[in-house]
Amino acid sequence: MQWDNTTLFSDDNPADRAFREEVRAWIAANCPKELCDRPLRIDPPELKPWHRKLYERGWIAPHWPKSAGGMGATLTQQIILFEEMSRVGAPTPYPHGLSFIGPLIIEAGTPEQKAEHLPGILTGDVTWCQGYSEPGSGSDLASLSTSAVLDGDSFVVNGHKVWTTNGHFADWMFALVRTDREAKPRHAGITMLLIDLKSSGITVRPIQTIRGDSEFAEEFFVDVRVPKENMLGSLNGGWQVANKLLGSERFTTGHPRNARCFSTRLGGSPNIREPHAIRRSCTVLLCLRSICWRSRRFIATPRVCMPTARHPPRWRQSSRLPAANSVSRPPNCWSMRRGRSAEAPPIS
Ligand SMILES: Cc1cc2nc3c(=O)[nH]c(=O)nc-3n(C[C@H](O)[C@H](O)[C@H](O)COP(=O)(O)OP(=O)(O)OC[C@H]3O[C@@H](n4cnc5c(N)ncnc54)[C@H](O)[C@@H]3O)c2cc1C
Repeated sequence: MQWDNTTLFSDDNPADRAFREEVRAWIAANCPKELCDRPLRIDPPELKPWHRKLYERGWIAPHWPKSAGGMGATLTQQIILFEEMSRVGAPTPYPHGLSFIGPLIIEAGTPEQKAEHLPGILTGDVTWCQGYSEPGSGSDLASLSTSAVLDGDSFVVNGHKVWTTNGHFADWMFALVRTDREAKPRHAGITMLLIDLKSSGITVRPIQTIRGDSEFAEEFFVDVRVPKENMLGSLNGGWQVANKLLGSERFTTGHPRNARCFSTRLGGSPNIREPHAIRRSCTVLLCLRSICWRSRRFIATPRVCMPTARHPPRWRQSSRLPAANSVSRPPNCWSMRRGRSAEAPPIS
C-alpha cells in the first residue's frame, strides 16, 4: 500500500495496516463516485444510501460501543476510517445523529430513549438537527429564550430557532430550551429536549443562503407539546449536556474534508490558482488542523509527532517526553508514531 500525506500515522501496526487496506478497498468498491469530492454539502436524502451501506458493513458508528450497536473501534481504527474516507473525498454521514446526539443518548438517555432513537440514527432512517441558535442568541447561547413550561405530563414549547443545519430535512431536533427564567446564572435554567418535528405547532422554513441553496432552516414553535419523557438529562441540566456535545462538535469540525470544502468555496474550483485564495485556504487549513490536532491530543494517549522533511533530523530523533502539563502547538504534519511523545517543532 502506498503511503501519502493524508495519513496521521506513518507506522500502522500489522492489524491496523490490514484494517486500513480493507477499508481502502471497500471504499473503492462501494462508495458512489458521484458523491466523492463534492465541494458543497450533500443533502441528507442523497446521502442516505451511502449511510446505509456503511451501516450494513458495520462501520457507521465506529466510536459507539458495541452494546449500543456501534463498532467499538479503537481510536486508531476510527482515525483510519476517517482518513480513508477523506483520502478519496468520500462524504461522511452527517454528525448530528451519529456524533452529537447519539453518544449523548447512550450516555445520558433513559432505556426508553435509547430503544426509540439509537436504531434510527444507526440506519440513517431518522435525520436529526441541532436546535441551539436563536435570532437573539448566537455566541451568547445562555441568553436563549425559547421557553418550555411543564404542563401535566408534557412541556409546552414556544419560541424560534434559527441557522439549523438540515432543519428542513430533519425528523427530530435536540433543542436547548429555557425552563427557568429566574435562574442565576442563566445557564442553570436551560433543559435539553428531544422534539419530534412532526408535532403540531411547528413551522419549518428553509433559509436561502447567499450561495442560493438552503443548508439552514428556521423553526417556529407555537404551543408545541413535548412529552416529559423526551427530556434528556435533568430539568435545568441542559447546559451540562450541551457542553458534552460541543466536544464532539469541535472534533468533527476538524475533518480534513472541511479544509477541502473551504478551499473550493474560497477559490472557486478545486484547482485554485489565485495566490490570495491559496493563502486564505492555507490559513483555514492550518486552523482546522490545529483544531483537529488539539481534539485528538485531548482524547488520545500520548504519541510521537514525527517531523516533516522540512524539519531538522535532530528533532526527528527526539523521543523526549513532554512535561505533563504541556500542550504543544500542532506540528506542521499529520504523521505521528504511537507509544511515545515528543516536542513539536517550532512553527515558523
Ligand atoms: C456552517 C454553520 C452551521 C450551523 N449550524 C447550526 C445548527 O445546526 N444549529 C444551531 O443551533 N446553530 C447553527 N449554526 C449557528 C451558529 O452556531 C451561530 O452562528 C453562532 O452561534 C453565532 O451566532 P450569530 O451568528 O448570531 O453571531 P453573533 O453571536 O451575533 O456574533 C456575531 C459576531 O460577533 C462576535 N461576538 C459575539 N459575542 C462577542 C463578544 N462577547 N465579544 C467579542 N465578539 C463577540 C462573534 O465572534 C461574531 O464574529 C451554524 C452556523 C454555521 C456557520
